[in-house]
Amino acid sequence: MHEALHERAIMLKLAPHLSRPLSIFTPLYKIWEKPYYRTGLKMYDLLAGKTNIGKSRSVSSQEAMKFFPKLKPENLQGGVIYFDGQFDDARMNITLVKTALNRGAVMLNYVAVTSLVHEEGQLAGAQLLDTLTKQHITVSAKCIINATGPFVDAIRTMDDVHAKPMLTVSSGAHVILKQKLCPNDLGFLIPKTDDGRVLFLLPWHEHTLAGTTDQPAEIEFNPKAKQDEISYILHYFSKYFKTDFKNEDILSTWSGLRPLVSNPDANNTAKLSRDHVIVKSKTGLITVTGGKWTTYRKMAQDTLDYAINELAFTPAPCLTKDILLSGASGYQENLSDEISHHYGLEDDISQHLSHTYGSDAIDVAGFAKDGLKTRLHPQHPYIEAEIVYAMKNELAMRASDILCRRTRLAFLDKNAAKSAAPRVIELMQQYYNWDKNKVIEEQNSWADIF
Ligand SMILES: Cc1cc2nc3c(=O)[nH]c(=O)nc-3n(C[C@H](O)[C@H](O)[C@H](O)COP(=O)(O)OP(=O)(O)OC[C@H]3O[C@@H](n4cnc5c(N)ncnc54)[C@H](O)[C@@H]3O)c2cc1C
Repeated sequence: MHEALHERAIMLKLAPHLSRPLSIFTPLYKIWEKPYYRTGLKMYDLLAGKTNIGKSRSVSSQEAMKFFPKLKPENLQGGVIYFDGQFDDARMNITLVKTALNRGAVMLNYVAVTSLVHEEGQLAGAQLLDTLTKQHITVSAKCIINATGPFVDAIRTMDDVHAKPMLTVSSGAHVILKQKLCPNDLGFLIPKTDDGRVLFLLPWHEHTLAGTTDQPAEIEFNPKAKQDEISYILHYFSKYFKTDFKNEDILSTWSGLRPLVSNPDANNTAKLSRDHVIVKSKTGLITVTGGKWTTYRKMAQDTLDYAINELAFTPAPCLTKDILLSGASGYQENLSDEISHHYGLEDDISQHLSHTYGSDAIDVAGFAKDGLKTRLHPQHPYIEAEIVYAMKNELAMRASDILCRRTRLAFLDKNAAKSAAPRVIELMQQYYNWDKNKVIEEQNSWADIF
């Protein structure tokens, strides 16, 4: 936990436009719960030490109802508030990619490892497939790091058909509600449901995100939230709030797979923290898995230190604690005012651009000035300029890249994304000069996602 709190502080420093402190409220219904939670949170504050981003405190039932007016007031004794951090996962991911590109890394999108190349019993390279052009590529490598999340065992099997699986995965379903239940700066957490789970409501891109489940799952590329998971989330929040939530109250749902290390081989495992695990195979394949998004930087540092040590590379100091991510340099809280003023964009759009792209928002706004100011959907702040920016600067190759992982429209509002898709495909067709067949393929594959 100490490591995660430390990394959280680093993330807030390196990407101030994308990450933010977020206070979280926990409602309490029994008088004895207040001192119990206060003591626990005092320890959390102490553990966070200098990295603490706000002091936890008690909240009266009146104050709680002010924050969450749609909460059922019966038996509410008030609650506690503590501080955590929040960021947008897909935007953080693409921002890391951009930062690496700016510093000279080669980053490939839609390129899959299909097999590994061995020479004299040692790993020497990999066969890759560009899944868009269907081109096969062979690369040589002195060291290969397998960081494929839930898919690490598939790569380990390419290295050694007898490799024992080290992962299980659990699915986590999420629901975006039509009703806004949280204020923009306060989440709502149920730390222990009747069956021992954690559930939350979080303010997310001006909407309310409800989650999550934790169920054993199969490993697959596009996991979907199952109806029983959705019903569980809706049912549980109906107990706390004045609405009896049904499927009609949902804008969008999705699911993710958590990589859980179940069977690391004790003999060759460097267990560097409780959370992530690094292993090396007999042929030299290094696998890193488990962990948390929050600790991504430490996972990378530990893995490279391990590789340098195991393969006797020349060590160099790790710099990532201090490298500002793309858009962080020159970012200021008043950036959105500047963008509104200079580029004539509405306030919600300029706020969205500055929080999403940081100082890179100026480049996006530049495209907007050139005639791409139109919103992708009237109820959302995403604009056409972002499509062109994502193709030029963020390796966006398909409509789903734009609608799911550069903007978050499909995650927030499925129907809005559906209605925006034709224009996204049209702009991509113009930029990439797609022929008719490619346009049809893209329309169909996009329809499949829904
Ligand atoms: C529901 C849910 C909630 C979570 N909540 C939190 C949270 O609150 N805080 C937190 O810190 N963490 C959280 N996590 C955990 C966090 O999201 C994961 O730990 C993290 O995403 C794992 O990152 P990864 O890079 O190891 O794997 P991934 O993000 O899954 O990335 C693996 C990549 O490998 C690629 N790949 C797979 N096979 C191949 C191949 N053959 N060739 C090339 N590429 C390949 C995939 O396309 C993918 O891009 C949550 C996870 C879930 C599912």
